[in-house]
Amino acid sequence: MTNISSILTQQHFEKDELVALLACEGDDMDLLLKRALEVKKEHVGPQVHLRGLIELSNICRKSCLYCGIRSDNRKVERYELTDEEVISCARLAHQLGYGSVAIQGGERSDKVFTDRITRLVRQIKEIDGGSLGITLSLGEQSEEVYRDWFEAGAHRYLLRIEASNEELYYRIHPRDERHDFHQRLGCIDQLLKIGYQTGTGVMVGLPFQTLSDLADDLLFFLRKDVAMVGMGPFIPHPDTPLYAYADQIPSAEERMNLTLKMIAILRLMMPDINMVAATANQTVDLMGREKAILAGANVIMPNLTPNEFREDYLIYPDKACVGDKPEQCRFCLDKRMESIGHEIQYNAWGDSPAFTRKHQK
Ligand code: SAM
Ligand code: SF4
Repeated sequence: MTNISSILTQQHFEKDELVALLACEGDDMDLLLKRALEVKKEHVGPQVHLRGLIELSNICRKSCLYCGIRSDNRKVERYELTDEEVISCARLAHQLGYGSVAIQGGERSDKVFTDRITRLVRQIKEIDGGSLGITLSLGEQSEEVYRDWFEAGAHRYLLRIEASNEELYYRIHPRDERHDFHQRLGCIDQLLKIGYQTGTGVMVGLPFQTLSDLADDLLFFLRKDVAMVGMGPFIPHPDTPLYAYADQIPSAEERMNLTLKMIAILRLMMPDINMVAATANQTVDLMGREKAILAGANVIMPNLTPNEFREDYLIYPDKACVGDKPEQCRFCLDKRMESIGHEIQYNAWGDSPAFTRKHQK
């Protein structure tokens, strides 16, 4: 039998040890989560950083087999926030003391879109002398576009790899020129080269995904030495092709626990990175966000999207907090974090010490 407590005394893990940690349950899992919380407090403290989430648009040129806003889903009513709406979300973030915003949306690569983002980033940078940090999560773009956005003032980019195993990647994406595993990998390298605080991640509990795949994902994050990781449970959406496998995936509780173990193990492997407690955690478990924070995550992305559009950004069903007003959200988050011995850090960018350390060398 594998001795989890002896694996937990190590700082580096072999792949078979990662698989053993991912498989652990009961007291062993409690031990893993407890160790991850200690390591987190030691390296990044009990502070939680905020990124006010702006869901820019659900118009997407891609058709990922798991995503509710995939271009082939004709049931979705498509929307795009106006420039004024985006800027007013950013102003609200600033007023609420969120030090940072994250603009996320469907992928578009036409010049009208990419120039618009450059303009929006510049305008957000004009708020209070550039006090807001800006994360973008707008999919795969050319190196030139990534550079334009970086020069305009975006300093973080989130692009989940979705699967580090090429075979699995093509089981959850169509095989066509829009969905290219190597191109996605290449984008992560470009983002790192340009100097973004680069984030990546995966969904946990996908059909066909094994513990060996998840262990490889963890090793991929380590190898790329990324500054941020976002991981959340896969939630089957009825209007997507992967829904056909919904009865073959682990239960919601198992996907949640597996996500917590992924977060905890990664905290041990990369003690000072930023890790997001994804909204998907809260969707499968009412206390999911708190559990993710206690397992080692240290970033939360409260939603700032105007309420009338949130129902149309349903990448998965029953998304948490769709009806909440931003002001309520701030109050609720404060209380929730306080109840688990954590504290939200307001008016700060909340960069990961991992990134600062690397760039001070
Ligand atoms: N379009 C950009 C991209 O794909 O990188 C950013 C927006 S996309 C909606 C953000 C993330 O949502 C994806 O990286 C994916 O991991 C996650 N996502 C999509 N469908 C999901 C589902 N059914 N369950 C859980 N997460 C999902
Ligand atoms: Fe588009 Fe992103 Fe959804 Fe894929 S995951 S369909 S790229 S929004």
